[in-house]
Amino acid sequence: MASLQATTLTNGQTVLGSEAIQLFAERLRGPLITRDDDTYDTARQIWNGMVDKRPMLIARCAGTADVIASVNFARDHDLLVAIKGGGHNAAGHAVCAGGLMIDLSPMNSVRVDPDARTARVEPGVTLREFDHETQAFGLATPTGQVSMTGIAGLALGGGWGWLSRSHGLTIDNLRSVDIVTADGKLLHASEDENEDLFWGIRGGGGNFGVVTSFEFQLHEVGPEVLAGLIVHPFEAAADLLRFHRDFTTEAPDELCCYAAIIEAPPAPFLPKEVHGTTVVIFALCYSGPIRKGQKVVEPLRTIGDPIADLVEPMPFTAVQQMFDADYKPGARNYWKTQLVEPLPDEAIDLVVDRADPLPTPETKIVLEHLGGAIARVAPDATAYHHRNAAFSFNVFPRWTDAEEDEAHISWARAFMAAVAPFATNGVGVNFLSQEGDERVKAAYGDNYDRLVNLKNKYDPGNLFRMNQNIRPTGSA
Ligand SMILES: Cc1cc2nc3c(=O)[nH]c(=O)nc-3n(C[C@H](O)[C@H](O)[C@H](O)COP(=O)(O)OP(=O)(O)OC[C@H]3O[C@@H](n4cnc5c(N)ncnc54)[C@H](O)[C@@H]3O)c2cc1C
Repeated sequence: MASLQATTLTNGQTVLGSEAIQLFAERLRGPLITRDDDTYDTARQIWNGMVDKRPMLIARCAGTADVIASVNFARDHDLLVAIKGGGHNAAGHAVCAGGLMIDLSPMNSVRVDPDARTARVEPGVTLREFDHETQAFGLATPTGQVSMTGIAGLALGGGWGWLSRSHGLTIDNLRSVDIVTADGKLLHASEDENEDLFWGIRGGGGNFGVVTSFEFQLHEVGPEVLAGLIVHPFEAAADLLRFHRDFTTEAPDELCCYAAIIEAPPAPFLPKEVHGTTVVIFALCYSGPIRKGQKVVEPLRTIGDPIADLVEPMPFTAVQQMFDADYKPGARNYWKTQLVEPLPDEAIDLVVDRADPLPTPETKIVLEHLGGAIARVAPDATAYHHRNAAFSFNVFPRWTDAEEDEAHISWARAFMAAVAPFATNGVGVNFLSQEGDERVKAAYGDNYDRLVNLKNKYDPGNLFRMNQNIRPTGSA
């Protein structure tokens, strides 16, 4: 193997000698991929097609020993390093230009203990894989809504989904982790051990080390739940969004209902004349007993004059995959999101005014329903701060042509700027794009200073900086 020129932590250049690279490769059980390998282009790909970066080396980790070797190699050579779990972060932090990508995707075992109702999960596991294993025992824990997403990045940023109003964020169900810190040590963190670190990783993202194992608490769910979509014409949007606001803020915890403005797909369950028009949808999941759920969701089914009502009992695993086709990897994506309280009428009118027409067929405006158990945890109990927000308001443009980047990014920014006066200052860290330090601080709110102290302790050199970065004191 020849010497390679790689990017350093501070964006300089360093030469990696052939012997050092060879030694590193020998320390790994998984393959070390270079730009010459056939698998290189597949391995560097992530979900957001707008991010096209070329690491110098990719370590496909087979286990914790590989992670330790990779962290040590990166630190000793002052290399820029990116951590890839499921590769779904829209900001694209899972891949770096010129440095080392630590790819955890081969680490994908899930071990469920049905009696203790816990699961041990490796960091390359996707939500689909996790649900597959846990639902075999009628168990689940709150995760996200698109099944190809990685559980690692999602959990470390908080993680919310259909079950969160009943059982909290993903991190509220985290019992412990194994984590490799910047000094190459493997630590166990839980409420009883390295408690400060355990506090920080529950929301603090990948700032403190590489998690090699998660232990989650599970709950009885399904295997069938009441769920599905209700599709309405856009003309009724203002009334529907007002109804959704009032209904969901009073709803029981078992019900999670999103409202979204989308372009109707050419789906067989929609009349042909609706295809390609803007529609409003309610997407819901009631995770308690189905008969009780039928009553709870009735008002959502009887309001207005829906084009389609697809709410029915279905496997929880199917609910978790309900949106997969809308978010396939490869397209270009830019996200603007903000946490909001129930929107006043004026803000709803503004959203409706701006939403139609949507700039591309795959663009979505989504109001995600939070509250319930999420809000019953104190804002300083974990690094995740914004517990009290009622909704997350998201503008998700999606397109394929690179020449349209500027137009769609500007559209999303202008949309969110218009909504901003009605929003809280908070944002869910999982949904941030690359938006700068002030937005990272906004995501962590009053917990930010404590996170900086933790970063000073566990990663003073900021080795783990390809993330929504909590900068250690004194770093530029
Ligand atoms: C289509 C789609 C739907 C989504 N839906 C939801 C949702 O419903 N709810 C929700 O909360 N979020 C949702 N998200 C956001 C998602 O949680 C974040 O993008 C998350 O970062 C994805 O995790 P990943 O492992 O796939 O990402 P990656 O891009 O692989 O990782 C993201 C970052 O997490 C860190 N990281 C990953 N693994 C580790 C590890 N083992 N140790 C240390 N750091 C690590 C790294 O800093 C990395 O850059 C969604 C994202 C997409 C693209």
